[in-house]
Amino acid sequence: MNPAYVALGSNLDDPAAQLRRAIRALRDLPQTRLERASSIYRSTAVGPPGQPDYLNAVALLHTALPPHQLLDALQAIERRQGRERGERWGPRTLDLDLLLYAEQVLQDERLSLPHPRLAERDFVLYPLREISDTNLVLPDGRDIESLARACPGNSLVNTGCRLNTD
Ligand code: ATP
Ligand code: CA
Ligand code: CA
Repeated sequence: MNPAYVALGSNLDDPAAQLRRAIRALRDLPQTRLERASSIYRSTAVGPPGQPDYLNAVALLHTALPPHQLLDALQAIERRQGRERGERWGPRTLDLDLLLYAEQVLQDERLSLPHPRLAERDFVLYPLREISDTNLVLPDGRDIESLARACPGNSLVNTGCRLNTD
């Protein structure tokens, strides 16, 4: 089983319900165990202006699915929850990004690991830090604690709400 960290985000159609439904879908993936989920965070949208705020969280899976199969499964969950592909970084019912998959470093037309914009996003770094027992180190040697400290988190609020992983 390989550790895989998945970022969840939603800013359309009852985001809290979207995240709860997505967590259940992650829990039910084949060959996969849902180990942990962070609190729910609220963040200001990046991308086109005038969008509603996002709710974000990060989940830790242990999975035997290889990375591209896991990506397929994540995209199937997005589609099931009504994800439509519009303008870049536009509003969406559900976004599932594969942040890290074990120590994998890869880049092809479908998948980049680690997720290329992970290190600059407070809404990813703070929940990642929350669910890690130890200071998580990226394959390039940078660690989440230092990255989070360097990322001000101005637009980020921990709502204190937890996602049920049972
Ligand atoms: P960002 O990647 O900046 O968070 P986004 O989530 O809005 O932007 P999407 O439109 O959801 O981008 O995805 C665009 C493509 O990114 C997907 O079709 C997928 O093939 C590709 N992709 C590459 N690496 C990853 C990854 N680690 N996790 C999820 N998708 C990825
Ligand atoms: Ca994303
Ligand atoms: Ca995405």
